[in-house]
Amino acid sequence: MDYNFHTHTVRSNHATGKDEEYIIRAVENGIKYMGFSDHIPIVFPNGKESHFRVPTSIAADYCRDIKLLGEKYKDKINIIVGFEAEYYAEYFETQLKNAISYGGEYLILGQHYSFPENMGAKPSTAPSNSEDELKSYVDVVISAMKTGAFTYVAHPDIFNFTGDRQAYAKQMRRLCAASRELDVPLEINFLGIRDNRAYPHLPFWEIAGKEKSPVTFGFDAHDPHNAYDGSSLDVAKKMVKKYGLNYIGRPKIIFIKDLKKG
Ligand SMILES: [Zn+2]
Ligand SMILES: [Zn+2]
Repeated sequence: MDYNFHTHTVRSNHATGKDEEYIIRAVENGIKYMGFSDHIPIVFPNGKESHFRVPTSIAADYCRDIKLLGEKYKDKINIIVGFEAEYYAEYFETQLKNAISYGGEYLILGQHYSFPENMGAKPSTAPSNSEDELKSYVDVVISAMKTGAFTYVAHPDIFNFTGDRQAYAKQMRRLCAASRELDVPLEINFLGIRDNRAYPHLPFWEIAGKEKSPVTFGFDAHDPHNAYDGSSLDVAKKMVKKYGLNYIGRPKIIFIKDLKKG
């Protein structure tokens, strides 16, 4: 594995270490293509900002800082900078425009909530046995994929469904089929593996295998050490084999400034 496009920084208040330490760790372990994807800023209509995302005031600095490091290390590694973003239909156009104006080059989808948290959404990681909530999550992920703006879907299996297995399979088949049809890869998330989270959720990947969805890997580094995560890589490779996943390797980056209006 010589790529990783899922990297956070201290700016969103829950990662540690210097940007450069992430790069050094990646270079030392043979990563040739690296993307920083810190959480995209959001300003809610009441003027409040998200606390776990990059503050608006430093978003342009974030992109500039990473690009400077990219320049410094360009003989060793190819570095791009972008954001991990939720898709909230009502904010999306503005967010996309902002992301480009900050200097962001690409987006990955991380649907940590199905709708904006200022409207009382609960996190996708909170256990839920409601098929309606699961369906809302799947609907919003599919809408996001349809925008054509997202390079891939991070932790597509983040929704923590505790209800009926058949209902889960029915909804997730829709998500996985859309991924295949729209050619938007699904990420096996290594933070989930190393933290023993509820994702990767194996029944999801069984479905993804049957649906032949394109699959890629992401370290989701929140500290320099995990800018390369070899032990989770072994686990993910076994999943690919076990479920016959359509592993595509390095995803094709969608550069957001090149997106056609429409
Ligand atoms: Zn995430
Ligand atoms: Zn992340």
